[in-house]
Amino acid sequence: MPPGVLLIRFADDLAVEASGKTENEIVAVTNLAVQRVVEWMKSRGLELASEKTEATLLVDRKIVKQVTIDIIDTPVFTQPQTKYLGVFFDQGAKMKAHIVNTSRKAEATIMALSRLMPKREGPSSSKRKLLSAAADSIMLYAAPVWQESLKHLKYRSMFLKIQRKLAIRICSAFRTVSTDAILVLAGIIPIDLLVNERTATHGKEQAVKTTEKENTLTKWQRKWEATHHLGAWTKRLIPELKPWHKRGHGEITYALSQLLCGHGCFAVYFCRFKMKDSPLCQYCGNEQDDVYHTFFACPRWQNERRRAETEANTIITPENIVQTMLQSPTMWNVISTMASNIITQKRRKNKSN
Ligand SMILES: [Zn+2]
Repeated sequence: MPPGVLLIRFADDLAVEASGKTENEIVAVTNLAVQRVVEWMKSRGLELASEKTEATLLVDRKIVKQVTIDIIDTPVFTQPQTKYLGVFFDQGAKMKAHIVNTSRKAEATIMALSRLMPKREGPSSSKRKLLSAAADSIMLYAAPVWQESLKHLKYRSMFLKIQRKLAIRICSAFRTVSTDAILVLAGIIPIDLLVNERTATHGKEQAVKTTEKENTLTKWQRKWEATHHLGAWTKRLIPELKPWHKRGHGEITYALSQLLCGHGCFAVYFCRFKMKDSPLCQYCGNEQDDVYHTFFACPRWQNERRRAETEANTIITPENIVQTMLQSPTMWNVISTMASNIITQKRRKNKSN
């Protein structure tokens, strides 16, 4: 092959990758390479299907000239994008087409699957999490090829938007929660970290994969610590990601997601989103009916709280509540039941007001 040309073959598909300083140089070197391929095939009684051939110029600038490649006697014009082995390559050389097409595909798949699942009642969070496995396998396809493009926030955001939607669905959470917090809660590793892991472990043995998995959690922890005011309540409850992420039990319910995110049936929350005029607690008159007041201070819920504290044999605080839940499935249920009893009664009262 001429210098600057690389042939990539898979089954009966062939890609010719040619590089050069100018369009003319690229065209010349590609034509020469294609000519040699055609001759080689001819000598073995094979033929190249020129009507199935596509070409795209990968140029790192906005305005890209259209050029023509000669395939036998047929001119093939370069197109804005080409799909090869399931990966879209675009002329901007930023893999934008791939990210856009893949996020559309992932979103459509999730929508189709989640239509089968009711929003609140119905499948448990772990069953809903199967959706995220489906999305991951679509989004991570050929990750090492396009991973560089995730350095651009706008491309990263397209995938993150899908992960966020999924996480909200998994946790039955309110739509206002921060992306960082809801991903932690749902146990969905941010896409950029997953892509880095996939790239680092590509073609490597199991031991490398295990180490990289652990590295990903360490990076996620650092990222979590670096988030500032958004998700502050969740971070106070879940400062350490690893024990939370690796737990072997515990479904996230509608009530638990409110306790862990702080977004839900709280007057302060309703006030913030203009659904109520006053942040006062309608039970005890406290001036801030927020997540802390509801679960840890309001006298109206002291029976629910005491019952949980007796079973947990500890005074429950924001600092130890998640630790308590992680102790055993029984302790998880104790807290989950407390949250559910309180939220159910608050919702009932809100509806009757
Ligand atoms: Zn109160």
